[in-house]
Formats: sequence, structure tokens, C-alpha cells
Amino acid sequence: MDQQGEAAARPVPADGLRTAPPGVLPYYLAVEAAAVVLPFVVPSTAPTPQEWLYLAILLGSALVQTELSATAERMQRFLAGNPHVSVTSVWFFGATLATPPALAAVLAALIYGHLWLRTASVPGARLYRVTCSVATYVVTIFAARAVADLFGTGAGAPGVAATIAAGVTFFLVNTLLVMVGHKLHEPARPLLSFAGSVPENVLDAATLCLGATAAVLLAARPWLVPLLVLPLVLLRRGELGRRLELQSGRDPKTGLLTIAEWRTRAEAELSRAARAGGDCGILMLDLDHFKRVNDTHGHLAGDDVLRAVAEAVQGEVRIYDSVGRFGGEEFVVLLPGIGRVHSVAVAERIRDAVTELTVVAADGARIDGLSVSVGVAVHPDAGDGVDQVLGAADKAVYEAKNSGRDRVCVSR
Ligand code: GH3
Ligand code: MG
Ligand code: MG
Repeated sequence: MDQQGEAAARPVPADGLRTAPPGVLPYYLAVEAAAVVLPFVVPSTAPTPQEWLYLAILLGSALVQTELSATAERMQRFLAGNPHVSVTSVWFFGATLATPPALAAVLAALIYGHLWLRTASVPGARLYRVTCSVATYVVTIFAARAVADLFGTGAGAPGVAATIAAGVTFFLVNTLLVMVGHKLHEPARPLLSFAGSVPENVLDAATLCLGATAAVLLAARPWLVPLLVLPLVLLRRGELGRRLELQSGRDPKTGLLTIAEWRTRAEAELSRAARAGGDCGILMLDLDHFKRVNDTHGHLAGDDVLRAVAEAVQGEVRIYDSVGRFGGEEFVVLLPGIGRVHSVAVAERIRDAVTELTVVAADGARIDGLSVSVGVAVHPDAGDGVDQVLGAADKAVYEAKNSGRDRVCVSR
């Protein structure tokens, strides 16, 4: 996923299971059934007192870590937001390597039970999501342990090759299970778009590295395991900082630039064009009869349409063009180095893309027949400053509206 996509407000559907698409419930039930059955069918030795001690140390460390790194509000994000922003798997992977898988499964249930107790009253926290996260981790734990055992693990921590293979398995199985769940929630999006961004995956990998370290410490000096808590808290905080930075200057609803950020970029680009003597196109977009969408399908569906349009516009421009949300259902596009003819071509492409959109609202309603009116103005023809060019593009939008909507008009 690119940075733009990562910044976009893309809430994991906060709906209950009743309104979820058809595949979701059977999938969750299948993962949960696997998680319940696996501890009974996979042969395992009874935990030794030492392994119970390992469990207690991991659990204690995990509770301290989650308390330190998460206010209730942050935990809410952890539970209801992007599943990739989590470092808790450090304890699960440590337990996978150092204890029988059934004990690691118990640890997952206890840690999530604690998170649930701390967040049950927070809007957006859902019990089914918690039980599904536990089940996903249990299946992941058993898969990783099975791979480690292929290397003939005896007593004590697995060897180097077994640890690496188990880590890779843990990463892949967990990621895949989460991706499939999300894909079933949002069937229209490609599977790979749920894989998380590069920094998120690096964070996951770093977490597993620390999980392997926890397993080695358990075997050598178990009481040193809590030393991992502080680095984890910092790792988590660093990730939150990175995300906040990414989201600053972004409109939370659509992930597009805020108008302030867009204006800053437009001013810089127009003064650069004035110095170097180049063109710069500016498009102003206004969705046609958008109020009808709200009136017919509700404002939440209207928001889904705004997100879909934002994505469609973004998909029709280059990586160095800037797309901003001007306000309500109005968008602006900055096209550096692009003159009149090409600006009109981009505007036509965007107009086409919007007419082809079909948005599936949360209640399953299909919204199509959308259209947009676009005004085009180009620097330096339409003026030097952002306000002048934008004003000209705005006038052109009115012209498009007055001449029937669903069209592109160019400032004269
Ligand atoms: P026109 O073709 O003349 O542009 O018609 P329109 O209905 O799009 O124009 P109007 O400006 O009358 O209505 C814009 C609507 O956009 C009204 C407002 O409720 C809605 N709107 C503005 N911001 C948001 C938002 O963030 N979410 C939702 N769902 N609706 C919004
Ligand atoms: Mg409007
Ligand atoms: Mg409108």
C-alpha cells in the first residue's frame, strides 16, 4: 500500500456481524473452530512447572507492556483499527518457541481477555473481533510450532534454523488470515491491498525478532524477559508517531490533502512555475447532485462515496500531482508542469472514472450513476496566484453546472 493509501481513513468496518458480507461469518466460525480443535488434536506434552513459569513471566510482561503503551483510546485503535499496528505478538511468538502450543494459545486468550476488559466500553470495540483475533493467533501459533518441530526440536528453545522458519511461518500465516478476513469484509478491493504498508510489515518483523529473543531469554535467564517491555513500548510509540506524522495535513475522511496543505503545495508549485516559466494546471471538482446520495442512502453511504471518488481521482493522476479536499463534496487537483490540453485530458479521465464508479454501501446498497462537474484553469493563463487560478477553476465549475453537469469546462 502506498503512503497515500496508508494515510487514508480506511476504517475496518465497524459494523456488527449481522450486516457483514456473506462470507465473513463462516470464515470467522471456521477460524474459531480450528482454534478450539487444534489444542485437542495436536499431540503435545503436558506443560512442566517450568513452562508454567514461562507463561506467567510472559503474561506479566505483556500486561505491563499493554498498560504502558496503551491508554484506553490507543487500545481502541488496537482492537478496532488496523491489525498491523500491534506489537503484542512478541509474547505469542516467544511462547510458541518456549512452551507447548496449547500454553501459547492460553496466553493469547488471556492477553486479549485483558484488552477486552479494558476496552469493552469503548465505541467500536467488538467482542467478535477480539475472539477472532485470539483464534487467528491460536491457528498461527500451531502452524509456527509445527514448522519448528519439523527441525526436530527437543527440550529447550529451538535452534537457529527452526526459529527462523517458525518466525517466517508465524508472519505469513498471521498476515494471510488477517488479509482474507478483510477481503471478505471488502470484496471489491484487491487482496494485496490488505497486506499493510512496508513500515507496518517491518514493525511486525521486528516484533517477531524480539519474540525470538524472549524465547532465548526464557531458556537462559527467564527473569530478564521483562527487559523487553521498554523497547516494545518505544517501538509502539514510534509507530504511532510515524502514523500521526503521515496523517497530518490529510483529511481524515478521504485521506486526501487538507485544503491548507494543498494550498501550501500549490503556492510553492506556482512560484516555482513562475520562476522557471512552466505551466501548472488546477482542477476544481464538484460532485453532481450529491445531496441526493445523502438523502437516498444516508450520510454514511455518502461518506463511502466521497472516499471512493477520492480514490478514483487519485488513481487518475501522477504520483507528484496533489489532490486535496476543498470542502464537502468538492476536490482540487494540482497538476505541475501540465498545460491546458493535458489538464483537460486529465479532467476528462477523472470525469469518466467517476461515472464508472459503483459504490457498495455498508447496508449492501449499490450506488452508481455518479457524475462530477470539473472546472479547469491553468497558470499562467488564468493568473499568477493560487487564489486567481483557483477562482478561475471555480467559475468554470459553475459553467459546467449551468450547462448540464457531468462535464469539463475550461476557464476562458
Ligand atoms: P450540485 O450538482 O449542484 O453540486 O448538487 P449537490 O447536491 O452536489 O450540491 P449541494 O452543494 O447542494 O450539496 C452538497 C451536499 O454535500 C450537501 C451536504 O450535505 C453534502 N456533504 C458535504 N460534506 C459532506 C460529507 O462530509 N459527507 C456527506 N455524506 N455529505 C456531505
Ligand atoms: Mg458543492
Ligand atoms: Mg455538488
